Amino acid sequence: MSERGTYHKGDTVTEESDYVCVPCGFKKHYQPGEIFTECTSCLSGTEDGHEDYVEGLELWEKFQPTAKE
Ligand SMILES: [Zn+2]
Repeated sequence: MSERGTYHKGDTVTEESDYVCVPCGFKKHYQPGEIFTECTSCLSGTEDGHEDYVEGLELWEKFQPTAKE
């Protein structure tokens, strides 16, 4: 876990939130106890996805709402 709040495929979700696929921006909701998977949109985390984002690299970033009222 880094300061930027990014997670690897296979990491366990510790906080319920929306998470964003770093390479493509696809957003997915995870709940605690779930496991971060490959991105179903751009296939990052698999051999068919971005070669820079294969398994083991940071893939999911916690979604940070910018406009909070
Ligand atoms: Zn993606």
